[in-house]
Amino acid sequence: MNVPVLPRDDLQALEGYHSPQLDVSVRLNTNESPYPPPPAFVDRWLGELRGAALNRYPDRDARELRAALGRHLGQPAERLFCANGSNEVLQTLLLSYGGAHRRAVVFEPTYALHAHIARITGTEVVVGERRADFSIDPAAARELIAETHPTIVFACSPNNPTGTVEDAATVDVLNDATDGLVVVDEAYGEFAPQSALARVRDDGRLVVVRTYSKVWSLAALRLGFAVAPPWVVEQLEAVVLPYHLPLATQIAGRVALEFGEEMRARVSLLVSERERVMAALAAIDRVAAFPSGANFVLFKVHGDGHALWEELVARGVLVRDCSSWPRLAQCLRVTIGTPEENDAFVAALAASVREVAA
Ligand code: PMP
Repeated sequence: MNVPVLPRDDLQALEGYHSPQLDVSVRLNTNESPYPPPPAFVDRWLGELRGAALNRYPDRDARELRAALGRHLGQPAERLFCANGSNEVLQTLLLSYGGAHRRAVVFEPTYALHAHIARITGTEVVVGERRADFSIDPAAARELIAETHPTIVFACSPNNPTGTVEDAATVDVLNDATDGLVVVDEAYGEFAPQSALARVRDDGRLVVVRTYSKVWSLAALRLGFAVAPPWVVEQLEAVVLPYHLPLATQIAGRVALEFGEEMRARVSLLVSERERVMAALAAIDRVAAFPSGANFVLFKVHGDGHALWEELVARGVLVRDCSSWPRLAQCLRVTIGTPEENDAFVAALAASVREVAA
């Protein structure tokens, strides 16, 4: 072979983002909805798609989707930017407001893609620490922001992988402390008791990012959005690739909103299942769960977290092994599934804990 072409120097040490999949019966490792969307939604979606002009590029501005989503959220359409999953929203934010000689602040442990996409876009990553309960320390955050002058400050509420819901007051402190954007990633926002959505203002610098992947059961269709001041939306539209959002996705995002009641019922079920799983975890010796406002729960085990993860896999249950991640020694994260899956998880965990302790 010829000499391989090297990527950019700053990308050479970068590892791709992986969430290993195994062929097991109970898959609770990637925080998706355990339920497919309602069959009536699929019929409506396919019906519209059949009549669509597939030979034409999709609407660049996703006007129908944004109008419907705006009505659903009680937000003007001018504040909405839609993209292929919230990951593409985050990438477009970093392409626009990050880049060379700019900094983004993240508070670890948090969603790995914030720092990962920052690095890919050449943005310097400034790492702030969280408190022992995984919340952001407002005073420490203020100091870090004053020292480093970021153009983007990331918060994540509920935070992945810890489940922590951020105080509204903390978001205000971040906003006040920076003259950059504050991006609150609310990928799991619908499962939480509070949201920063109502704090977005046309003359502010707060951006809230959400997704259809979890609550709307549409992870496969890749749709996420930002609620942001219109001047940010205009900037994101200028940077993102033209026609980036497939028509099938635009239609799905609009039609899904007609099934709000069904989706809200799923959210309530998952929230009550989360509380049931929390109670079950509290009853297992040598396991401590962290409070969660999301559709997953982080828990810490005594001893070797990876060994426990392997025991769970041997029992047909796949959760996320966070135990080798910085700041998360002995921690595993379980996605809330169907009641049957959750029962299988709790039983497998109790047996695995006994096995590892023996
Ligand atoms: N933000 C957070 C905090 C997430 O956990 C995820 C999904 N793992 C995403 C964003 C990305 O979701 P999507 O691209 O599917 O919208």
